[in-house]
Amino acid sequence: MAYSGNLTCRDCGLTFTATWGSVTGADEYRCASDHVVYVEARWGTVLSPGGSGAEGTTLAQLRGLCPSCSTELITGCLPSCPVCRGRDHDVMLN
Ligand SMILES: [Zn+2]
Ligand SMILES: [Zn+2]
Repeated sequence: MAYSGNLTCRDCGLTFTATWGSVTGADEYRCASDHVVYVEARWGTVLSPGGSGAEGTTLAQLRGLCPSCSTELITGCLPSCPVCRGRDHDVMLN
Protein backbone atom coordinates (compact mmCIF):
# COMPACT_ATOMS: atom_id res chain seq x y z
CA MET A 1 0.00 0.00 0.00
CA ALA A 2 1.43 3.35 -1.03
CA TYR A 3 0.75 6.41 1.08
CA SER A 4 1.21 10.10 0.63
CA GLY A 5 0.69 12.78 3.18
CA ASN A 6 2.23 15.22 5.58
CA LEU A 7 4.66 14.02 8.18
CA THR A 8 5.47 16.10 11.23
CA CYS A 9 8.82 15.25 12.75
CA ARG A 10 8.58 14.56 16.47
CA ASP A 11 12.21 15.48 16.95
CA CYS A 12 12.45 18.90 15.27
CA GLY A 13 8.83 19.74 14.46
CA LEU A 14 9.30 20.07 10.70
CA THR A 15 6.27 19.20 8.58
CA PHE A 16 7.06 17.81 5.15
CA THR A 17 5.21 16.04 2.37
CA ALA A 18 6.28 12.57 1.38
CA THR A 19 5.17 9.38 -0.26
CA TRP A 20 6.07 5.97 1.08
CA GLY A 21 4.90 2.40 1.26
CA SER A 22 4.84 -0.62 -0.97
CA VAL A 23 3.61 -0.50 -4.55
CA THR A 24 1.73 -3.19 -6.42
CA GLY A 25 3.80 -6.36 -6.29
CA ALA A 26 6.79 -4.77 -4.60
CA ASP A 27 7.82 -3.82 -1.09
CA GLU A 28 9.53 -0.54 -0.33
CA TYR A 29 12.88 -0.67 1.46
CA ARG A 30 14.83 2.31 2.78
CA CYS A 31 18.39 2.60 4.00
CA ALA A 32 19.79 4.88 6.69
CA SER A 33 20.38 7.55 4.01
CA ASP A 34 16.77 7.22 2.84
CA HIS A 35 17.54 5.75 -0.56
CA VAL A 36 14.43 3.94 -1.72
CA VAL A 37 14.59 0.50 -3.28
CA TYR A 38 11.56 -1.49 -4.37
CA VAL A 39 11.86 -5.23 -4.05
CA GLU A 40 9.54 -7.42 -6.05
CA ALA A 41 7.66 -9.39 -3.44
CA ARG A 42 7.60 -12.74 -5.17
CA TRP A 43 11.20 -13.20 -6.31
CA GLY A 44 13.05 -10.66 -4.19
CA THR A 45 14.22 -8.85 -7.35
CA VAL A 46 15.28 -5.24 -6.97
CA LEU A 47 13.24 -2.71 -8.95
CA SER A 48 14.90 0.62 -8.44
CA PRO A 49 12.89 3.62 -9.63
CA GLY A 50 15.84 5.98 -9.68
CA GLY A 51 18.08 3.71 -11.69
CA SER A 52 20.81 2.87 -9.21
CA GLY A 53 22.19 0.14 -11.43
CA ALA A 54 20.97 -2.58 -9.12
CA GLU A 55 17.89 -3.52 -11.12
CA GLY A 56 17.56 -7.24 -11.64
CA THR A 57 19.72 -8.23 -8.71
CA THR A 58 18.03 -9.73 -5.71
CA LEU A 59 17.92 -8.51 -2.15
CA ALA A 60 19.86 -11.63 -1.18
CA GLN A 61 22.64 -10.76 -3.67
CA LEU A 62 22.82 -7.31 -2.11
CA ARG A 63 22.94 -9.01 1.30
CA GLY A 64 20.16 -6.67 2.36
CA LEU A 65 22.38 -3.61 1.84
CA CYS A 66 21.59 -0.44 -0.08
CA PRO A 67 23.10 -0.50 -3.60
CA SER A 68 23.96 3.22 -3.29
CA CYS A 69 25.53 3.49 0.16
CA SER A 70 25.80 -0.06 1.55
CA THR A 71 23.85 0.55 4.72
CA GLU A 72 21.15 -1.86 5.81
CA LEU A 73 17.82 -1.76 3.98
CA ILE A 74 14.72 -1.79 6.15
CA THR A 75 11.15 -2.29 5.02
CA GLY A 76 8.05 -0.68 6.49
CA CYS A 77 9.67 2.52 7.73
CA LEU A 78 8.67 6.12 7.23
CA PRO A 79 10.79 8.56 5.21
CA SER A 80 13.42 10.26 7.33
CA CYS A 81 13.15 13.93 8.24
CA PRO A 82 15.07 16.07 5.71
CA VAL A 83 16.40 18.25 8.53
CA CYS A 84 17.34 15.93 11.40
CA ARG A 85 17.06 12.51 9.70
CA GLY A 86 14.70 11.30 12.42
CA ARG A 87 12.04 8.72 11.57
CA ASP A 88 9.57 9.31 14.36
CA HIS A 89 6.74 11.33 12.87
CA ASP A 90 3.11 12.18 13.29
CA VAL A 91 1.33 11.11 10.11
CA MET A 92 -1.42 13.06 8.38
CA LEU A 93 -2.53 11.18 5.30
CA ASN A 94 -3.80 13.10 2.29
ZN1 LIG B 1 13.29 16.37 12.17
ZN1 LIG C 1 21.52 4.11 0.68
